[in-house]
Amino acid sequence: MLEIACQECASVGSYRATPGVFFRCLECRRELTTEDLDLDPGEIWVVSATGILGFVIDPVESIREMSIATDAYLGAECDSLDELEALRSFHDAAFRLQGALKAGVPYPIMET
Ligand SMILES: [Zn+2]
Repeated sequence: MLEIACQECASVGSYRATPGVFFRCLECRRELTTEDLDLDPGEIWVVSATGILGFVIDPVESIREMSIATDAYLGAECDSLDELEALRSFHDAAFRLQGALKAGVPYPIMET
């Protein structure tokens, strides 16, 4: 999970869940809701077990990247830089998938 930075005081990982609908920065007391978050496509917000607000890459996106990397690996010449790059891409996407699952995001139900 990557922690959200406060736009007011630039503190990272300082937004904590509060009773109610707000998250509050523990440094400057700024409040925000999930509607205030400006995440990139493919990112989803999560809250850690300790109440810290953050975000992860959507598992659907990571699985898509792993599929693309697998195809690239299978199409690459043996022991080539392309093969290594495909393996690195697969590893990075798998790491992001693991991070989302650890944060409590469910494994997606994939349509066939
Ligand atoms: Zn702040």
